[in-house]
Amino acid sequence: MAKFEYAPAPESRAVVNIRPSYGLFIGGEFVESTGDSTFKTISPSSEEVLAEITEAGEADIDLAVRAARRAFDGPWGRLSGAERGKYLFRIARILQERAREFAVLETLDNGKPIKESRDVDIPLAAAHFFYHAGWADKLEHAGLSGGSGQPPRPIGVVGQVIPWNFPLLMLSWKIAPALAAGNTVVLKPSKTTPLTALLFAEVCQQADLPAGVVNIITGTGRTGAHLIRHPGVDKIAFTGSTEVGKDIARSIAGTRKRATLELGGKAANIVFDDAAIDQAVEGIVNGIFFNQGHVCCAGSRLLVQENVADDVIMRLKRRLQTLRLGDPMDKNTDVGAINSAAQLARIRELTSVGEAEGATRWSAPCVLPERGFWFAPTIFTGVSQAHRIAQEEIFGPVLSVLTFRTPQEAVAKANNTPYGLSAGIWTEKGSRILWMADQLRAGVVWANTFNRFDPTSPFGGYKESGYGREGGRHGLEGYVTTGATR
Ligand code: NAP
Ligand code: MG
Repeated sequence: MAKFEYAPAPESRAVVNIRPSYGLFIGGEFVESTGDSTFKTISPSSEEVLAEITEAGEADIDLAVRAARRAFDGPWGRLSGAERGKYLFRIARILQERAREFAVLETLDNGKPIKESRDVDIPLAAAHFFYHAGWADKLEHAGLSGGSGQPPRPIGVVGQVIPWNFPLLMLSWKIAPALAAGNTVVLKPSKTTPLTALLFAEVCQQADLPAGVVNIITGTGRTGAHLIRHPGVDKIAFTGSTEVGKDIARSIAGTRKRATLELGGKAANIVFDDAAIDQAVEGIVNGIFFNQGHVCCAGSRLLVQENVADDVIMRLKRRLQTLRLGDPMDKNTDVGAINSAAQLARIRELTSVGEAEGATRWSAPCVLPERGFWFAPTIFTGVSQAHRIAQEEIFGPVLSVLTFRTPQEAVAKANNTPYGLSAGIWTEKGSRILWMADQLRAGVVWANTFNRFDPTSPFGGYKESGYGREGGRHGLEGYVTTGATR
């Protein structure tokens, strides 16, 4: 059959208006930093400089925390849940109205395909605000009193630090529940993807959110560390690497600060011989190549039953040859750019270790653009449990394939990592799904699907994947206190 080539279908960037430089969003306004340190955010697919960003220092963080405290003690703290809910509904609707602008900006700053920011990131971000808006006036009926008989109360000022892989979505996972429960926030986006958080600051203005309820301070890891250590912060919410998560846990030990940590993962995607193989292949591709594998719950380890392994790998390779890698702004693109030079270096380093340790490497034959940061979808077969590529999070489009013979062996292998964020099971047998889900030490277990997210469903980890949950009723627990505990 003749092969049809796709014509380019670029999304227009005319819908976004990127300023040459940005200040900090403190107390409801964009303000200049007290210092003069700045850095640039670039588009990882072209290395084009997009804007100059402020690196907030300790004095700026102090101003932001004070603004958040004033709002908490003042107008925001006095609002009823129903009134808070109206603001959240308003933010959700504005996110929907400006969805195209957010999607284009996210793709430019992050490098992810426009079809993903358009169809996944931004709609889910709006959904998180809609969902939590509905909770704001119902918290007393959510079973959050911890046996105290007292109604749940907000904790206070929350310091939030988020990563670069889903910038606006991670912001909404953090800000929506915090505000629904009546807290105020100071949030630091990642240095490589600050632009949608800064556009979100404009949305807060547009929604007439009282000054200081949301403060956005841009900067590097140093800024994040200052925020976490600030004595005026009552609670920390962090998503990122296990290494930084451990550092945060150490730094708040002995203080009254609370924390929820959402860290790394090395999820097993487990395919049994009775699974619908073509569907499983789609799930494997979605599990590890969605968002260039920059996903904490990515199915980065494929565990496939030995008697179907050759067939699954053959079909998987055939499927990977059809993925289109390139310009993230093209609506046909499946695989976009790696987020940063540093992340590309890490992926390259770990994949060379995989080869050196004796695993067999195969990469999809695609032409990588000359500028920007790129890595072809890659799979390793012949991987053993001791290999670093079976234990460490690569956070890129790289799949490690292992085999198993029995369900018991699959469970033992799946659980054999320091992480425990997610897992996937592919089988026709319902009883096996339930048995496996019970045995797997993972916060989220998907059955015959993968990487499905919904604001109503709690998300979070076991072991070194962190503690606390985000989303659902459970996610609210991290943002309230009761008479019994305080
Ligand atoms: P990271 O260093 O943990 O960064 C996450 C966030 O924390 C960013 O906003 C970062 O700021 C900030 N940060 C860095 N050092 C900090 C510190 N000492 N105190 C407080 N905040 C700090 O993660 P990364 O460097 O972006 O990625 C490294 C690895 O982390 C990846 O390879 C991946 O394995 C893992 N990761 C996991 C997730 C997840 O969703 N679980 C997300 C991203 C990365 P800057 O970005 O401005 O430096
Ligand atoms: Mg960027």
